[in-house]
Amino acid sequence: MSVNQQAHTGPPYGQPQPGYQGYQQPAYGGQSLPGVPQSQYGAYNGPMPGYQQPVPPQGYFPSLGFPSKGSPVSLNSDTSLAPNFIGSLRAPPTSGAPPPASGASHPSGHLAYSPFEHGDVQNGIPASAAPMQRPPASQPFLPGSAPTPVSQISTFQQYGPPPASVQQLRNHMAGMTIGSTAASAPPPAGLGYGVGPSSYPPTTGAPRPPAMPGPPLTGQTVAGPPSSQPNHVSSPPPPSSMAGLHPGTPMSGLHGPPPPTHPPQPGYQMQQNGSFGQMRGPQPNYGGAYPGAPNYGSPPGPPPPPKRLDPDSIPSPQLNELPPQQKPRHRIDPDAIPSPIQVIEDDRNNRGSEPFVTGVRGQVPPLVTTNFLVKDQGNASPRYIRCTSYNIPCTSDMAKQSQVPLAAVIKPLATLPPEETLPYLVDHGESGPVRCNRCKAYMCPFMQFIEGGRRFQCCFCSCVTEVPPHYFQHLDHTGKRVDFYDRPELSLGSYEFLATVDYCKNNKFPSPPAFIFMIDVSYNAVKSGLVRLICEELKSLLDYLPREGNMEESAIRVGFVTYNKVLHFYNVKSSLAQPQMMVVSDVADMFVPLLDGFLVNVNESRTVIASLLDQIPEMFADTRETETVFAPVIQAGLEALKAAECAGKLFIFHTSLPIAEAPGKLKNRDDRKLINTDKEKTLFQPQTSFYNNLAKDCVAQGCCVDLFLFPNQYLDVATLGVVPYQTGGSIYKYAYFQLETDQYRFLNDLRRDVQKEVGFDAVMRVRTSTGIRATDFFGAFYMSNTTDVEMAGLDCDKTITVEFKHDDKLSEDSGALLQCALLYTSCAGQRRLRIHNLSLNCCTQLADLYRNCETDTLINYLAKYAYRGVLNSPVKTVRDALINQCAQILACYRKNCASPSSAGQLILPECMKLLPVYLNCVLKSDVLQPGPEVTTDDRAYIRQLVTSMDVAETNVFFYPRLLPLTKADVDSDSLPAAIRNSEERLSKGDIYLLENGLNVFVWVGVSVQQGLIQNLFGVSSFSQISNALSTLPVLENPFSKKVRSIVDMIQGQRSRYMKLIIVKQEDKLEMLFKHFLVEDKSLSGGASYVDFLCHMHKEIRQLLS
Ligand SMILES: [Zn+2]
Repeated sequence: MSVNQQAHTGPPYGQPQPGYQGYQQPAYGGQSLPGVPQSQYGAYNGPMPGYQQPVPPQGYFPSLGFPSKGSPVSLNSDTSLAPNFIGSLRAPPTSGAPPPASGASHPSGHLAYSPFEHGDVQNGIPASAAPMQRPPASQPFLPGSAPTPVSQISTFQQYGPPPASVQQLRNHMAGMTIGSTAASAPPPAGLGYGVGPSSYPPTTGAPRPPAMPGPPLTGQTVAGPPSSQPNHVSSPPPPSSMAGLHPGTPMSGLHGPPPPTHPPQPGYQMQQNGSFGQMRGPQPNYGGAYPGAPNYGSPPGPPPPPKRLDPDSIPSPQLNELPPQQKPRHRIDPDAIPSPIQVIEDDRNNRGSEPFVTGVRGQVPPLVTTNFLVKDQGNASPRYIRCTSYNIPCTSDMAKQSQVPLAAVIKPLATLPPEETLPYLVDHGESGPVRCNRCKAYMCPFMQFIEGGRRFQCCFCSCVTEVPPHYFQHLDHTGKRVDFYDRPELSLGSYEFLATVDYCKNNKFPSPPAFIFMIDVSYNAVKSGLVRLICEELKSLLDYLPREGNMEESAIRVGFVTYNKVLHFYNVKSSLAQPQMMVVSDVADMFVPLLDGFLVNVNESRTVIASLLDQIPEMFADTRETETVFAPVIQAGLEALKAAECAGKLFIFHTSLPIAEAPGKLKNRDDRKLINTDKEKTLFQPQTSFYNNLAKDCVAQGCCVDLFLFPNQYLDVATLGVVPYQTGGSIYKYAYFQLETDQYRFLNDLRRDVQKEVGFDAVMRVRTSTGIRATDFFGAFYMSNTTDVEMAGLDCDKTITVEFKHDDKLSEDSGALLQCALLYTSCAGQRRLRIHNLSLNCCTQLADLYRNCETDTLINYLAKYAYRGVLNSPVKTVRDALINQCAQILACYRKNCASPSSAGQLILPECMKLLPVYLNCVLKSDVLQPGPEVTTDDRAYIRQLVTSMDVAETNVFFYPRLLPLTKADVDSDSLPAAIRNSEERLSKGDIYLLENGLNVFVWVGVSVQQGLIQNLFGVSSFSQISNALSTLPVLENPFSKKVRSIVDMIQGQRSRYMKLIIVKQEDKLEMLFKHFLVEDKSLSGGASYVDFLCHMHKEIRQLLS
């Protein structure tokens, strides 16, 4: 390979292109006629005059020897390395076919490559157990950073002022009495829980409730809220004045409202009416049935003693510092407050068996944690769109009064499980899709055909449009077109149209996209083995680039760049015997020194690429260069795509803060002292606007950036993430990357990232029927106007959350409609439109709104809203605003929908009974309330990740899934029943798994039987278990197999490969683990669920008084 290096003599095609702004494509957006748009488009990607002569100056030509020439570059420190490179570069290519990567597992045959593999990842439909929740923190757990115990004095302040006085507290708590009745029977002794190890004090004095089979019994009410509304959970309320309560008095009966007479709620009938505590359905978590048996089946226990919230029970912060044994017991029985596990189980039991058929307007889908199939009968599947409410208030006054945000979480390219049908592709030929003349909405099942089928009235704007002759069809006696069932766009909620040239930039069909791999070859990257690992992996991975349908090979072309403080481009043209390197050291004005031979077809250039990938690790093996650039790397990729006139994705593997002299150079500005000050927001903001401008250019070109970070220290994720974030790309972070322990995770992420379905040069617009409109958007994208969401790339995992506001009245009759249209280029270069339609109900009664809400989606929205808020406001302000909004939501319900009852009663809408617990998880998350072990980069990373998460991901991220592995039935495929995230639910004789979408913990109790330890870890005692393990040993026994299959199954449900962390009880790492027990008070000051519920209750009462 010969290498040429030369100073840059002027960018042949790097100039900013005036036409960019033109991207607003009217045709798509609908402001102009079909013919017109292109003109604007035209400017956008226009070939630059300079393009055609990228003929590099002489020096570029590969033939000349290495950096021989005294080009300015040679002064560069990198130059000194050059000669060495030559030597190794000249080595003959190893052979035609690249050897499979060694250490790394080969793609073929690997599960990860199955086309539907990610199906599980999304909404549910996971192979078996649906995915669930989520908690914070990405990788605060790094080897080197074992959290240090922190004193927890600070706490308690976080949400609002604590009750002013003890008396107040008392009152407040008294008010909260939860009078549940039903429920509780003592847990069987000996079952793990009951016999709590000394360190796990029994939760309540009262015996634990036995698992109750079956859903709530109706008549049980007791403390139930008197409401007549089926849906709410009411918490138990004490009689009107709390004064009357003596602590300790059983409340049942006291205020038990009469059994609710709820009208059966479609879909949710089985749910209990919600008084806290009472009527809890089966409680998987504990007690009852365990040893081995599923608890559900156990018969209901004897009528349990009533539960109540006791005034004295609020734990003060200091209590946490006491050894557990000395803690006073909570008098509020945690089993008496709404349980996420219960709600999830109920939904699974009630809604998991039947397919969700989308033919009916305004239906609330099953929860994301329920495994269900979807049949599209005219509305988009909940895998594509989920809403905070499926019944929206008719007027903005009602909406304001309720404070319930109206939002849709949209995942336009969501992967479907194999049993479901992908959206059909409709080809209307040159005429393109049929659209409304005025608002440009696309033909959909809600358009009304009139005048014998000659015209149609738009369901969004009411405008009447002529049916084009080629699309004419007669109507049947009901007014339906006779071809209704033959046309996806008339009968289905989701489908695609093949786009015509009018929908293409420059009025030209796009070329297939390109992938450019850009590898940091500075000292750290080389020394850690990363460079070699990536090169080895790429040799096989390149055979698995995404391809369309049944195409034999992928249409995607590939290119390669390596860099430290200079960039190295490689010519891998198929006709070359050896790859050629060209160095660009003038990074101030980046350009691409070669066109022909940079982006190639993998099959055609197989030998040359293999040779290059073999040589790269050798070339840089002795590098001493520690500094890197970053912005020029993105610029180089961008320029290469521009030159090739295509969209594409850059895969950048980067290790350090880019401090080398170059555009976009950064300084270390990490400063933890800013936490909890007004300047904290600066930690989330980029330190320069340079990257925002670069992102804009990337979006205009369809250049999506995926960033893999391997930091050993602060590298300013907030700034480096700007381009990936705004281009619709992904960021992966592997702090303190170690080949041995982290390669498997990284390679899995890389494989999935390279292979996943992705659309390029995407623009999404959401149209709505008259009365509401989309006003705000959250996600990884760029917007140059107020309506079009632009994404250089959009993959199957990314969601966009859209908020709606009223601009007029809605009617109950017509309901409200959404149409999400995504214009994108497929991986084969086909221009397409994907359309998703959803119809919602509208209401004039607030109760209907509250009955049709989805809390998981609400939390997804609220988290994104809050995480964006920290860019501009102090974190405390953001937290307070969240609490306030939720208190208003619940107070409005109480005031307008619940039956009159004592103020002391906390009454929650059935559909929102988990709002407090989930909200608390968001408030305690690392972004809003970081613990001491959480780095500034972690927070910026998580903030960006959450912004693109779907509902299933935010659910498990904020409220992690906790499974008792020792309860798993080794003979079945099922997962053990999940338990609540609290330390008091753990038994020291058991082993648990906790996952949140980013990490999987395996927690081992100190008293676990030696046999289990032997079977799972292959060592003979607890003390011999190594917490350095990054995978579980492969042992031939049923328990080991079962646990590994559970871990694999869960990994398969997530879009990222989770880091496995072994935690031994009472070990220092346990601190980290406890961070995820989100119902407990957190070290960083986050409230326990019980405390927070009390606090919310108080807030609500204040609003009502
Ligand atoms: Zn219209």
